[in-house]
Amino acid sequence: MKKVKAHQILFLLLALLLVLTGCSSTTATEAKEKPQRPILIQGPMPIEAEKFAERLENVKAEESGSTFEFYSGTVEGYPVIVVKTGKGMANTGAATALAIEKYNPAAIINQGTSGGHDPALNVFDIVLGKRSVNIGALKTGDLVEGEGIEPTEWKPMDLMASEGSAGEDPDAENIRYNDGDEGLLAAANAVKDTYTKGKVVEGTIGSADFWNNEVDRINWLHEKYGTSVEEMETASAAQISAAYDIPFLGIRILSNNKTNEGAYNPDTASANQDYVYEVVKEYISTLSNN
Ligand code: SAH
Repeated sequence: MKKVKAHQILFLLLALLLVLTGCSSTTATEAKEKPQRPILIQGPMPIEAEKFAERLENVKAEESGSTFEFYSGTVEGYPVIVVKTGKGMANTGAATALAIEKYNPAAIINQGTSGGHDPALNVFDIVLGKRSVNIGALKTGDLVEGEGIEPTEWKPMDLMASEGSAGEDPDAENIRYNDGDEGLLAAANAVKDTYTKGKVVEGTIGSADFWNNEVDRINWLHEKYGTSVEEMETASAAQISAAYDIPFLGIRILSNNKTNEGAYNPDTASANQDYVYEVVKEYISTLSNN
C-alpha cells in the first residue's frame, strides 16, 4: 500500500515538473517568436516591383488571381512584403485590402513612376506624398443637350463625404486629401541624401485612371489640386490604408514631365526602388528602437 503511494507521489511530482517546464518554455518561445508585422511595398508594374523583390532575403513568391504577385521576405531580418499590384485604382485598392487582411502590415509604401505637374521637377526627381488625392473623382456641370462638354467647370467630388448620394450632395463637392504618415515621411527625409540622381521633395500626389498629355489640363489640375505629380495608384492605396488605420506613404519618381519636356525614361522605376530600399531600412531601424 505504502509503496503504491510513494509511486503516486513521485508520478505527481514528475507530472508537475513537466507541466512547469512546458509552461515556461512556451512563454519563452512565444516571446521569441512573436510575429513582427511586415512592411508592405507596392509597385504597379513588374519594373516597379521586381527590383525591390530581388533584394529581399528568404523570399517566397505567391500569386493571387492573375494580377497580384506577393513576394514575402526579409530586409536585415525584418519581414517585408513586396506586391506587384497591377496598374490603376481598382487593382491597387483591391491589392491593398487583400494585403491588409492577409499580412496585417505595420506600414504601407506605394511607390513607382509618375508624370510631373510641377515644372520645377525633373525626370528622376522624387516626390514624397505629404498628401495624395483622387483627381479622377469629378462631378460635371448641369448642361442640356447641345451645350457641350466643359471639363474646366467640373467640380471635385469626395466619395467618402457621406454614405448618401455624392451626385446630389453639395457637401461632397470638396477635394479629399489623405495625409502621408509622419513616421514614414521622417524616415524618407532622413535618407534623402543617399539619393543622387535628382532631388527628393515633399509634395502632393494626384491619382486617377487617366494619362494626361494636355499641358493646359495638367496646369489646371496643378492649380486646382496643388499636384506635384500624377499617376494611377497612390490615392486608392492611401484611401484603403486610412480605412484600416495603417501608416501609409506614396513615393513617386518622375518618369516624364510634359510641363518641361521631360521625356519618359523607364530607368526611373529602378532608381526609385533603390531609394525606397533605403527608406525601408531606416523605417525598420525606428521600429526596433521603440
Ligand atoms: N508608359 C508606360 C505605361 C505606363 S501605364 C508604357 O507606355 O508602357 C501607367 C503607369 O505609369 C501607371 O502605373 C502610373 O502610375 C504610371 N505613370 C507614369 N507616368 C504617368 C503619367 N504621366 N500619367 C499617369 N500615370 C503615369
